[in-house]
Amino acid sequence: MNIHEYQSKELLRKYGVAVPNGHVAFTVDEAVEKASSLGTAVTVVKAQIHAGGRGKAGGVKVAKNLDEVRTYADDILGKTLVTHQTGPEGKEVKRLLIEEGCDIDQEYYIGLVLDRSTSRVVLMGSEEGGTEIEEVAEATPEKIFREYIDPAVGLQGFQARRLAFNMNIPQDSLGKAVKFMGSLYQAFVENDCSIAEINPLVTTKQGDVLALDAKLNFDSNALYRQKGITEYRDLDEEDAKEIEASKYDLSYIALDGNIGCMVNGAGLAMATMDIIKYKGGEPANFLDVGGGATAEKVTAAFKIILSDEHVKGIFVNIFGGIMKCDVIAEGVVTATKEVGLEIPLVVRLEGTNVKEGKKILEESGLNITAADTMADGAEKIVALVK
Ligand code: ADP
Ligand code: MG
Repeated sequence: MNIHEYQSKELLRKYGVAVPNGHVAFTVDEAVEKASSLGTAVTVVKAQIHAGGRGKAGGVKVAKNLDEVRTYADDILGKTLVTHQTGPEGKEVKRLLIEEGCDIDQEYYIGLVLDRSTSRVVLMGSEEGGTEIEEVAEATPEKIFREYIDPAVGLQGFQARRLAFNMNIPQDSLGKAVKFMGSLYQAFVENDCSIAEINPLVTTKQGDVLALDAKLNFDSNALYRQKGITEYRDLDEEDAKEIEASKYDLSYIALDGNIGCMVNGAGLAMATMDIIKYKGGEPANFLDVGGGATAEKVTAAFKIILSDEHVKGIFVNIFGGIMKCDVIAEGVVTATKEVGLEIPLVVRLEGTNVKEGKKILEESGLNITAADTMADGAEKIVALVK
């Protein structure tokens, strides 16, 4: 789960991570009011969306007085920002962070992430801050330094010092940088984060070390014990189809392709996406309807797939074990009766109650292309959408 920058900073502040003063604003008037309450010479108006790259897209503006705050807030609020992380459709800005302007000396990068190969949290740092870390990793990988953290003892002082030293943080700021890293690590662990990215971390002309940007991601599997974090959820930022799917307890992830997939079992769902790609197509989603799904749940799932305007064809791939093929067939027929079906549908059914399932589909009068195997089905749907 993702949250906004201002929420991340609010959380980090509680752990003693140094961040600039700032307030969220939902309207232009509120933005001016918050800026005036900050009372700083320079104020930064920042678009709050769940995506980075806002600066380059015009979503971060430095205002020298309250009139400029009003102009920028008016300009950014309601605007659809297109950054390299939003996709071409962009994201509408509904909230602003009104933040104290900072006298930047140098920009750095600090990130915490779970490294799966060592099963440890890794702290990464670079003196190449402010730019995309992916670009640094590509062009000058030697400028990224890593410290692997032993969970039993946590981040050790010598590791933080070594990293700060490798990042070329000035001598005078080393102590503050080390404290920053320790607090960030504590916030990361206690809140079940999966990513904490501070880009840029800055040193100021006054010798302070601050997080100018903050991105936190949380492990969804741990949200049950992080009730405070779930209150930060902003449904406006989430995929409408995924929100709908979560109401029915469906494992659904929206993707960029045009072939909708309805599958039972996570393993088969992954394999189905693979084989679609292998045959030259692009899956539009991951969907596991689960083992004990009811016809109602299957109907909901099918409707969610159909509501995706990018979907140009659907592949239903069911291997009925606990799941019965007739339940799937019923769901497909009910959904298409309610919302119509104007795109090709390929169905591969196998397993429990397969005869009953096929009969329901045949009698439905729907234009269905039957497939014998998974490979056959994938090939057929890829050909049909082309
Ligand atoms: P994004 O990563 O989405 O582009 P950032 O929060 O990193 O957004 O802001 C982009 C740039 O704007 C930063 O690299 C920094 O140079 C500048 N900036 C952001 N916040 C402030 C601030 N409070 N004071 C001064 N400059 C800022
Ligand atoms: Mg940034």
